Amino acid sequence: MRSFYCQCGGTLFFGSVCCVACNRPTAMCPHCNAVRSMAVADDGVLVCDHCHHECRMCSNATQHAVCNRGVDAVSEHTLCRYCRLNSVVPDLSVDDNLLKWKRLEMAKHRVLFDIERVGLPIVSETENGSADGRPVLQFEFKSSAVKPVSTGHADGLITIDIAEADSVHREQTRVEFGEPQRTLVGHFRHELGHYYWQLLVEPNCLDDFRSLFGDERKPTYAEAQKRYYADGAIPNWQERFISAYSTMHPWEDFAETFAGYMDIVAVVETARHFDRTRVTADGSDFDQMLTAYRDIGIVANEFNRDMGLLDLVPEIHSDAIVEKLKFIDDLRLAVQKELV
Ligand SMILES: [Zn+2]
Ligand SMILES: [Zn+2]
Ligand SMILES: [Zn+2]
Ligand SMILES: [Zn+2]
Repeated sequence: MRSFYCQCGGTLFFGSVCCVACNRPTAMCPHCNAVRSMAVADDGVLVCDHCHHECRMCSNATQHAVCNRGVDAVSEHTLCRYCRLNSVVPDLSVDDNLLKWKRLEMAKHRVLFDIERVGLPIVSETENGSADGRPVLQFEFKSSAVKPVSTGHADGLITIDIAEADSVHREQTRVEFGEPQRTLVGHFRHELGHYYWQLLVEPNCLDDFRSLFGDERKPTYAEAQKRYYADGAIPNWQERFISAYSTMHPWEDFAETFAGYMDIVAVVETARHFDRTRVTADGSDFDQMLTAYRDIGIVANEFNRDMGLLDLVPEIHSDAIVEKLKFIDDLRLAVQKELV
């Protein structure tokens, strides 16, 4: 993620709510689509120091401090675009749920911001007028402490078990499933992968998908799931799959590969912003982007090992995996050129 600047010259970050150098309030300006310092006018209206656009803080920011986005001052909405995608939020009368929700929103906002930078559409009833039968993106954050919750995607609705925002639970699950990483941003990227399969792949390029990822009808998802949990990943999966979980079913392979692609974009964008590479992640050169990611990954992994942390880039991209990543890149380019 890039950083931003206050009018005082201080550095602002994606989640900043005020400048630590001058204490000026900051928000994601809906007009600049960047975090900006803000002047406070009457009635709590904020005026962007950069573009002078007037906005108000999202009500999830003022009421719960789980958001830092501005909403147009003249808008009929009190919630920002990203918060309006929530259909169920955690029960805040339960201890720790506010903290979990905040972590979830921070991850969700970061991932959605990158999704929009990549140019992928977010279909919402309110923004687009009519969804034309396309799946409307929604999030529900539910607690498995109340009744069992499966984190997953169905027809545009992404469900997340808020226990995933508890780092102890997440680490236990990561070890249990033998995953090299398990993060909230990773969950959002993966589930959005399922969403974009339904929104973009199914209606536009299903044959190409099947020739690369396999036929999602045979075996059925239920059969594949049963086999995976009985027998585990196929031997030598690393030769063709980005993760062990990818081997379960072509849908999971696509979602894992999509998440892997978004990881690449995020890391290369950050490196570019901080002058650590000249390569852009704008989709102009996939091969260069992948090389930059590998180069940055080697250094970042060593930093992480220096500090005793998990590898930033644990995956090794075989030729077969690169082809699948390229499929995601092609999908992105087709969207940019309005071919799908
Ligand atoms: Zn400042
Ligand atoms: Zn602005
Ligand atoms: Zn918001
Ligand atoms: Zn999945």
